[in-house]
Amino acid sequence: MKLAKPKYIFVTGGVASSLGKGIISASIARLLQARGYSVTIQKLDPYINVDPGTLNPYEHGECYVTEDGTETDLDLGHYERFTSIHTTEAITTSKANNVTTGKIYKSVIEKERKGEFLGKTVQVIPHITDEIKRRIQLLSQQKVYDIIITEIGGTVGDIESLPFIESVRQLRYSLGYRNTALVHLTLIPYMAASGELKTKPTQHSVKALLENGLQPDILVLRTEHPLTPNLKRKVALFCNVDASAVMESIDVPTIYEVPLKMHEQHLDEVVLDKLGLPAEEGEPNLDSLRDFVHKIKHPSDRIDIALVGKYTELPDAYKSISESFIHAGAVNDCKVKLHYVNSEKIDASNVAEKLGTMAGILVAPGFGNRGIEGKIEAVRFAREQGIPFLGICLGMQCAVIEFARHVLGLQDANSSEMGQTAHPVIDLMEEQKGITAKGGTMRLGAYPCQLKAGSKVAAAYGSEQIMERHRHRYEFNNDYLADFEAAGMQAVGTNPETNLVEVVEIPSHPWFVGTQYHPEYKSTVERPHPLFVAFVKAALENRK
Ligand code: GLN
Repeated sequence: MKLAKPKYIFVTGGVASSLGKGIISASIARLLQARGYSVTIQKLDPYINVDPGTLNPYEHGECYVTEDGTETDLDLGHYERFTSIHTTEAITTSKANNVTTGKIYKSVIEKERKGEFLGKTVQVIPHITDEIKRRIQLLSQQKVYDIIITEIGGTVGDIESLPFIESVRQLRYSLGYRNTALVHLTLIPYMAASGELKTKPTQHSVKALLENGLQPDILVLRTEHPLTPNLKRKVALFCNVDASAVMESIDVPTIYEVPLKMHEQHLDEVVLDKLGLPAEEGEPNLDSLRDFVHKIKHPSDRIDIALVGKYTELPDAYKSISESFIHAGAVNDCKVKLHYVNSEKIDASNVAEKLGTMAGILVAPGFGNRGIEGKIEAVRFAREQGIPFLGICLGMQCAVIEFARHVLGLQDANSSEMGQTAHPVIDLMEEQKGITAKGGTMRLGAYPCQLKAGSKVAAAYGSEQIMERHRHRYEFNNDYLADFEAAGMQAVGTNPETNLVEVVEIPSHPWFVGTQYHPEYKSTVERPHPLFVAFVKAALENRK
């Protein structure tokens, strides 16, 4: 941290949802980091769930998990992937980086029950807004960040985001001139019939902000067509911003190019100017990002990998996995074409047709027994055909079940999550039994894992001690371990304290790995995950 007191950037959105506020926030963070500032990003979500852990992935996409075991919005994944803040564990994202309306109300109501409001009527203003402001400023207490970026979920004008918008208004006033900046993201629609780009929705959205007492400093305009200087000047005039502070955010082939596009328009300098901070002399160093984007855009090769799961209609449900393949593809100089295959549609009669042309097969995480038999078929196909395989969490559990059924001959082997079985090769641990509440009660967050020397996994990591993030209730049942190892499936990663199996491998197979943890949460631009890199490499080699 180089500033005495942190500065704040708020990112809001208008006109439409899903404009990519998360990517813009992450891009601003990346650019400011490249200019030497220490930056973190926080997401405020207006929904009433305490966290997204209990949400179906079809609602908001994947649930991301932080190092400290918080279940969060998938935008936190973008923040970490762009800013690669894994160098010091202390500055990865944490529970303070994702706040929901549910969390805010929960703490205010708990305080009220304890009598801490001393007989006062508890109200949205000031009590809810005070709690929101406290949560926004919480990250400054760590004294590591120069700049805290707060992304407000939802769209300006929504009833449910109003308390957040009001809190930003109060904070901007109390923190004072040049200590905060407001970036507003909107959409410039294109009317194909008249061939025109329209600014009116943006004007209205800025008016909605003004009605709430907020004047944006910077506008980022999402568009499918280039914006003319005239259009930018018009938006600037109507919305009281400098023309130099109107940024075009045009669709690009890869999201990792967005920081570069923003830098070309001097977004970093404009932000620093609004915050009264000096831009360091010369250009920020963005070479590694440029290099990475170049590799993504110009791969020499292409391979097909199947992602077998049950949420295949919404790729956002597997966001961190698909991004990990982009990172690993760049390292291997190839484009990974991911094929989302619905496990509910796979059975023994069609598995060869669905997966036969794939260079690698990944079986995805998941919950419940829907689609489970198709996942087990997919594992069997990968194991028997010698196709490189990566099973993540439920995917690893399916690999264990498949091996028990077809190699150990335990025909009804299953996970006890799926119902009664004589051979619960995947089972609940004692400490999980009796837990009935669903929210935040799984094994969550980073745990150490000891890898076996000589295993493919240890070779991939280049290390035998690793830390990886978990999100599950069920575990490998160690009562069966000796049988598995004797038959050729090895436990090559274990938790040094609890002895739980964290990684299985079949050494006689070209590349067959299952991890109880989620490697995808830690893959970033600067540090593509070693397991994904090794998996893609194995897929390339195996194909040739
Ligand atoms: N449903 C499994 C469990 O709870 C796996 C969870 C997952 O894949 N994230 O153990």
